[in-house]
Amino acid sequence: MKHSNIAFFIPHKGCPHRCSFCDQRTISGTQQAPTPKEVADTCRQALSECRSPENTEIAFFGGSFTAIPTQEMVEYLEAAAPFVGKGGFAGIRVSTRPDAVEAPVLKILRQYGVTSVELGAQSMDDTVLALNKRGHTAEDVRRGAERVRQYGFSLGLQMMTGLVGDSKESAYRTAREFIRLSPNGVRIYPTVVLPGTELAALVQKGAYHPPGLEETVSLCAGLLNLFDGVGIPVIRLGLHASQEVGERMIAGAYHPALRELCEARRYLERMERLLAEVPPGEYRLCVSARCLSQALGQKKENIARLKERGYEISVAPDERMKPLEVRLVQGKEVTGCF
Ligand code: SF4
Repeated sequence: MKHSNIAFFIPHKGCPHRCSFCDQRTISGTQQAPTPKEVADTCRQALSECRSPENTEIAFFGGSFTAIPTQEMVEYLEAAAPFVGKGGFAGIRVSTRPDAVEAPVLKILRQYGVTSVELGAQSMDDTVLALNKRGHTAEDVRRGAERVRQYGFSLGLQMMTGLVGDSKESAYRTAREFIRLSPNGVRIYPTVVLPGTELAALVQKGAYHPPGLEETVSLCAGLLNLFDGVGIPVIRLGLHASQEVGERMIAGAYHPALRELCEARRYLERMERLLAEVPPGEYRLCVSARCLSQALGQKKENIARLKERGYEISVAPDERMKPLEVRLVQGKEVTGCF
């Protein structure tokens, strides 16, 4: 059964300052944080309508939850806690800064049924962190992650790609460092530059050029391969689809179906590796029936790209195949598999 969240956005609550890229109000489409009473009312309503509360968590996103003044944070937790546990939702998920998870606050979270803590690490490169005004170091992420696990929470780590000073190599270094920290899940957010942020000013001055969609898809397909290879789920890739973000962004990589584009790219790369063994011509590839659209790519882009290189491909679904597996079939023979 698919996991879902009853998400509450608390834009910028608890944040000690504004990071260079951040505009939570536009990203979340929420101008104001809900009151604790609104949280309780929404949870009550959602629980009465929810078919599988055991697969659903109450989530506080969009700010630095554990850096909110304690009394206010506790009021939110008290509003959500009665709806968690037997017959209720599976737990409470919060996202916060890596330097705001000291022992006393983690004890409070545990007391109120919080199950998952997500740390907005963004990068494990201290230069990138400093250039983007994060106000913490990679060592804070390591220490924070360790403490979150020590207190028995499920650990989530969030990274960004394409920030000022970031590169393909430093994104991969961040991903490898994440793997060493053994998170239960990862979120990847490619940079999208929104008006009013510090990044927007840099773009306007010509001092910063974030990677566009093509470069980002290629990078993120590789990051998915890396996390997949060690069994760490990427629970989110790209900002939630939002008309407002699409209309207001001034640079960067936004697409409402970014994950799909990246999954399709992984297929394309696999097909290319298989076809590199044979000369241009007509071929049939078999893929998992569940992943047919990813194999074809958006608007059959993968097929078109292969055609440009002289490969006329037909793709056949096969119920028995695993996701990402690709077989090259000639006549009745399987002549290649990747
Ligand atoms: S990135 Fe996180 S810490 Fe920085 S301003 Fe945004 S919500 Fe706050």
